[in-house]
Amino acid sequence: MAFGRMGSIMKFEKSEKLYKLAINYIPGGVNSPVRAFGAVGGNPIFIESGKGAEITDADGNKYIDYVLSWGPLILGHSYPDIVGALENAIQKGTSFGAPTELEVELAKYIIDKVNSVERIRLVNSGTEATMTAVRLARAVTNRRMVVKFDGCYHGHSDGFLAKAGSGMLTAGIPSSSGVPRTITELIISLPYNNMESIEDIFEKRGGDIACVIVEPMAANMGVVPPENGFLEGLRKVTKEYDSLLIFDEVITGFRLGLGGAQQFYGVYPDITCFGKIIGGGLPVGAIGGRADIMDRLSPSGDVYQAGTLSGNPLAVIAGLTTLKILDNQSVYQKLETNGALLEKYIEQNLDDFGIDGVVQRVGSLLTLFFTDKAIKNFDDANTLDKKLYSEYFHSMLKRGIYLPPSPFEAMFLSVYHNEDIIERTAEAQRKAFAEIS
Ligand SMILES: *Cc1c(COP(=O)(O)O)cnc(C)c1O
Repeated sequence: MAFGRMGSIMKFEKSEKLYKLAINYIPGGVNSPVRAFGAVGGNPIFIESGKGAEITDADGNKYIDYVLSWGPLILGHSYPDIVGALENAIQKGTSFGAPTELEVELAKYIIDKVNSVERIRLVNSGTEATMTAVRLARAVTNRRMVVKFDGCYHGHSDGFLAKAGSGMLTAGIPSSSGVPRTITELIISLPYNNMESIEDIFEKRGGDIACVIVEPMAANMGVVPPENGFLEGLRKVTKEYDSLLIFDEVITGFRLGLGGAQQFYGVYPDITCFGKIIGGGLPVGAIGGRADIMDRLSPSGDVYQAGTLSGNPLAVIAGLTTLKILDNQSVYQKLETNGALLEKYIEQNLDDFGIDGVVQRVGSLLTLFFTDKAIKNFDDANTLDKKLYSEYFHSMLKRGIYLPPSPFEAMFLSVYHNEDIIERTAEAQRKAFAEIS
């Protein structure tokens, strides 16, 4: 029996019913796999609404939300200015398939804030952004090979569903059925934070490598920051071999600050991919970069790229409204302060209950890994205690805390995750730790 934060018994009847219905019509009952709770067991919770830091499920249970739609909702749920801007925009029409003034404003805004970006093209998802970035890099360099890193996520296009082969220097192999080897053979997947393997591969195949694509702060194997010199090393070696460096800032863009991870770490790529926050909770992605590279995109150049709903007026106004509210140093300071507070409480609780855990945090992104040493790459991440995470997840869920339903994800904070919310989370965590330790 589960007791919610209000002390009442939590029921999940309606969610269970909806899930049973959904699996008849939608593969696995969900429209994106991690939502199915496969990594933690149990049935997914169906969400009815969200306000600020909280969501309410179909049964009326309330949770403090640390998933926040997997990153876009830095302003929390239903931020009044965004709701207002959307209500206003919707009266004027939802899509035209022709240019609009606000697209130019959003493009200019991002270019003004993100140092390495001189031109930008809007698309509909992060997946589209990374796919196009690689196509551009191949066209510009007239090369085929792509280097990526194990544990980084770049969306679900064929080329990125590749994992490392048996030897470090061998070509990637498909990580999903339906992806041809002829495509993954063009991908080399290396360990994150390991400059040696990068230098090695460039020494042997540098002349074939179109680009290196990386999450400049990895957040899709849990939060794994770049070690000192890693990003600098990537910048140096790609320059030396006339390869392009692509930063996938779909999560980190406008999350680690207005200038993204590139400004945060002081290393600047040739191409940047955006998504999530720049759409303010609506579907968006973008590719930006140096003008000479970006102008290779059609119609100014020879690299084809298009989209019926690209630059959609609703997504653009939601994104622009979000970015303008973020344009205030105090927002990021507050996120940092509250992130640090949450980290402090979790570490205290781990200590008090004698649980092996490592908290890795950058600003408002945080992962608690149930393991006893720092996580530097995907192999390290795989040493964590997955069973313990599942128990922890469900113990928190029934106490009204909605954590990512996978141990390899980041917790996200919004501007609504204040001291009170964090203290309530820490209190629930103490009870959860008491239950599972
Ligand atoms: C979420 C994400 C993507 C994919 O974006 P979608 O909008 O889900 O297609 C790509 N790269 C990174 C780093 C992401 O976090």
